[in-house]
Amino acid sequence: MEHGTLGKNIEDVQKNNQASILHVLSRCRGVLSRKQLSDLVGLTPATVTNIVRDLMEAGYIMETGFLSGKRGRRAVGLAINPEGFYVLGVRLSRSTIACRIFNPYAEVLNSKTAAIAAFEQTERVLEQMLDCMEAVVEESGVGSKVQAIGLSTPGPLNLKEGKIAYLHGATDWRDVPIKDLVYERFRVPTIVEHDANAAALAEYTFGKLAENQDLIYVAVGRGIGVGVVLEGEIHHGSQGTAGLLGHVSVDYNGPECDCGGTGCLTNYASSKAFLRRMEELGLGPAKNLEDYVALAHSGHDLVRQEVERAAFFTGVAVASAVNLLGCNVVIFGDEMTWFGPLWFDKAKETLLSRLAPNIAKGVEVRLSAFGQESFLLGTAAIAMECVYQNPVTKVDEKELNQ
Ligand SMILES: [Zn+2]
Repeated sequence: MEHGTLGKNIEDVQKNNQASILHVLSRCRGVLSRKQLSDLVGLTPATVTNIVRDLMEAGYIMETGFLSGKRGRRAVGLAINPEGFYVLGVRLSRSTIACRIFNPYAEVLNSKTAAIAAFEQTERVLEQMLDCMEAVVEESGVGSKVQAIGLSTPGPLNLKEGKIAYLHGATDWRDVPIKDLVYERFRVPTIVEHDANAAALAEYTFGKLAENQDLIYVAVGRGIGVGVVLEGEIHHGSQGTAGLLGHVSVDYNGPECDCGGTGCLTNYASSKAFLRRMEELGLGPAKNLEDYVALAHSGHDLVRQEVERAAFFTGVAVASAVNLLGCNVVIFGDEMTWFGPLWFDKAKETLLSRLAPNIAKGVEVRLSAFGQESFLLGTAAIAMECVYQNPVTKVDEKELNQ
């Protein structure tokens, strides 16, 4: 048996080997020879040749021609086939449903977005989501090659059962079996993930990170969530609820929150809290967040002061998260970052000034490389991971027993 394989039976061994090869090719995002694959994955050249043949027959990988610069027998390059399969990525937020068909290089083949009129009408929103998904698949013309669906939603989620457990401030969204609903309609593997986790995975998979970095993605939108990627994997915690930064208290004497706590960050620093505060200060309620972004940029003192106040509370809470997790990359994204340096510089300065100097100097703080697309790119990463873990190939018993 090959070393580096952990499967309980021979079919598992083959699947694990296939997954390893697809992973290495996918992460390098370029071209490798069979010999390079063999060295990187730790399988014999003969085994790699067999697995490559199966994966080529199934369309996952392709030959790219001879590699240059080699003496003697020239090696043939191998890469992930951009038309081998597709995934459907879906982001459900409180205001929109966004659906994209991605190829294995996370390039968008087709895209559709629908506005949600009344988020409180759970069944209607779910039906609208399924219709939007169906339309984007149909229009893409590659429906039969869509092999997995990644879906990001606000949380917290019950990951084992694929349910939205509840949504802050939306009483009808309780125990919603969203994974089953999607699977019943499309019959392909479906993975549901909290939106901050999806965004964190997008940064890890497609962003410019050095190897072995642990990161948190802080999504500061209508709610505040953190996606945690430790050692390359999303950290869910045994209750599946890790990353609820919005319900970390920044004032133990503060107002009660519907989670049961007091002084929760979300009530000070989310975009929803910001809009409420503007209204309390007599600057609302007719304006939306984009209008306040314009006011801040035009130098409106009170608005600028409040943006910095929200950023300050965010920095305070994120410092606790960094102290707890020991991560070295913090990425900010979602609506409050639309305020640009005014918000970001304050959040960053507050965060770093509240860490011990030796920790602070090792932390990289930046804005998301992908903006609002992070969430959807994350759903692509999650769905691709699902395909690579279990590619659809024939299992050849004779070959396995060699
Ligand atoms: Zn709370």
